Amino acid sequence: MPSFPIGCRTTSHFALVSLPLLLAATCVYAQGPDDGAVAPEVHGIRVNNLDFSVKPGDDFYRYANGGWLARTEIPADRAGVGVFSVLGDESNKNVAAIIEEVAKSNPAPGSEARKIADVYNAYMDEAHIDSLGIRPLEPHLAAVAAIHNQRELAFALGKTLRADVDLLNNAIFSTDNLFGLWIAGGFADSDHYIPYLMQGGLVLPSRDYYLDDSEHMKEVRAKYATHVAAMLKLAGFDDVDARAARVVALEHAIAETHISLADVEDIQKANNLWHRGDFTSKAPGLDWDAYFEGAGLGAQQQFMVWTPTAVTGESALVASTPIDTWKDWLAFHMIEHYAPVLAHPFADEQFAFMGTAMTGIEKQPPRWKNGVAMVNAYLGDAVGKIYAQKYFSPEAKAQAQAMVANLVAAYHKRLDALTWLAPSTRAEAQAKLNSLYVGIGYPETWKDYSSYEVRPDDAFGNAWRAGLWKYRMQIARIGKPVDRHEWSMEPQTVNAVNLPLQNALNFPAAILQPPFFDPQAPAAANYGAIGTIIGHEITHTFDAEGSAFDSKGRVRNWWTPEDHAHFEEQAEKLEKQYDAYEVFPGVHVNGKQTIDENIADLGGVAAAYDGYRASLNGKEAPMQDGFSGDQQFFIAFGQNWGAKIREAALRRQVLADSHSPGQFRADTVRNSDAWYKAFDVQPGQALYLAPEERVRIW
Ligand SMILES: [Zn+2]
Repeated sequence: MPSFPIGCRTTSHFALVSLPLLLAATCVYAQGPDDGAVAPEVHGIRVNNLDFSVKPGDDFYRYANGGWLARTEIPADRAGVGVFSVLGDESNKNVAAIIEEVAKSNPAPGSEARKIADVYNAYMDEAHIDSLGIRPLEPHLAAVAAIHNQRELAFALGKTLRADVDLLNNAIFSTDNLFGLWIAGGFADSDHYIPYLMQGGLVLPSRDYYLDDSEHMKEVRAKYATHVAAMLKLAGFDDVDARAARVVALEHAIAETHISLADVEDIQKANNLWHRGDFTSKAPGLDWDAYFEGAGLGAQQQFMVWTPTAVTGESALVASTPIDTWKDWLAFHMIEHYAPVLAHPFADEQFAFMGTAMTGIEKQPPRWKNGVAMVNAYLGDAVGKIYAQKYFSPEAKAQAQAMVANLVAAYHKRLDALTWLAPSTRAEAQAKLNSLYVGIGYPETWKDYSSYEVRPDDAFGNAWRAGLWKYRMQIARIGKPVDRHEWSMEPQTVNAVNLPLQNALNFPAAILQPPFFDPQAPAAANYGAIGTIIGHEITHTFDAEGSAFDSKGRVRNWWTPEDHAHFEEQAEKLEKQYDAYEVFPGVHVNGKQTIDENIADLGGVAAAYDGYRASLNGKEAPMQDGFSGDQQFFIAFGQNWGAKIREAALRRQVLADSHSPGQFRADTVRNSDAWYKAFDVQPGQALYLAPEERVRIW
């Protein structure tokens, strides 16, 4: 799973291909006017970001970031601002410069460069897009209007299926289509690609938005119904209030069939191999033959069904809900999904709801930023190839690789020293670490976009075909051997990811930049910043989810019952620690929903600290501005998580994201003995934990 939250999905068109790119693009937040977060002349921790009026033992997050928080304002077009968002902006600007340069070079028709220029320019041609109004969507709406029976409805629903979720790598768990599809290695046979099917059908981010009884959510739902009606009206529908009420009621019924995000993340619940015949017997209602035929999967015999109860519930709803309601649902979902590439009234109405009402963003980001995000989403590798060449030198790559090697060595030592692991479990854990593939900077092979058709005057069509291109590319791989070195992130993305079925990690070039990674910074700061992120991703290999996969990426229990019991007990302790954190009055972090990420943070700090100590080779660490090496290490870690987020966006993250808010991620240092020593933390201080209360897993 990625290191950073995807808690700020504001518009939906980027979801056509790859939502996580939002992190590097739109959703991450502009550099403020006075942003000390990334001051190029500073190497190491940002001392001017500290708040000396706070004791580290009382509020470590505020101690590490208080100075920065006090002088930073969230730009009007952002849901928040933080260290990694500033880097995301930097990457954005660099990609924009690449696009501009490419466009100027007048590239040959059909070339990747031509496609980059045309995707961008087509989206930037607002006058042309406005002149088209709803016309690009009309043939698709007409096809929906022509549905007459259950078979045609099922076929149409199948036609909307896209490879738009990502269950184990990038943690994309929601889709506005009836179901989501993911193609990856199988649980039992991780050497071959198999399709995974999961719950879907909601426009709002999770089932809680439909089912939660709080005043805040009731308000969101009322605004949502108004928004649905407004979109239908713009598209020329009559009787829009009644239609909207039925669409929202249907989504509410779908939400009731959904399992919670915490359950979606539990892979033991996901291990359900269904044959084609099982769909009709286990999930009657939907005409499955027509559905799979519409999806181009008529011949596919086996599926992994990730959320079986929801698939059953949704299938029954297809039969029990009037066809006309489903037709309105299909039409609205299509309009909503493609609004960003339609004329202004559609895009503006969507932003008013998804941007302002849902995440508190006051104004739309400048169009070029969405254009860049779109190029990243549709042609990520084509841009990434140029980006990596320009912004990630072979020297930087070699240094980052050396650091990863130190971290892995530190992890091996930790595994050797753990007293609670049985010898057989330890041996498999070591084997898993040995076969781990760590990708640094950029992939070894690039995606081939030759069959993706791009037209310079067709923003809508470019978006539509991008989703289809990805879908066809993905389903063509079913049954073929898995490429374990394939990447799940582009080089220009400011994030990192663990790929459990491939037993692999990706660290894109864009996160291997200051302040996370600075060849000129002291080792303490580099290990505290990027080192803990590398450690975080390695730990995912051994978190509640990752530990279910063996050294070959198969789902197999390689633990003794005693190991498992100890692990569960510690994980539960950590869950309780996070459950106690209060984000807003009455709103707590969900310890169960965030457990894997919290374990990863915990293990990441522990391994990076060891790696850092080992890198000193017994020497004393150099001081920086009066701070010892250990103090620098922990401060650098705390400064990774400095962020200001709007209330609505933060509420959304708490409900619909597997990552805890940054503030509490920084505070995980309270489980580390070395932190107590470094800052002389004493009993009575707010973050103090007695040694036996500190959670130690890896
Ligand atoms: Zn993670």
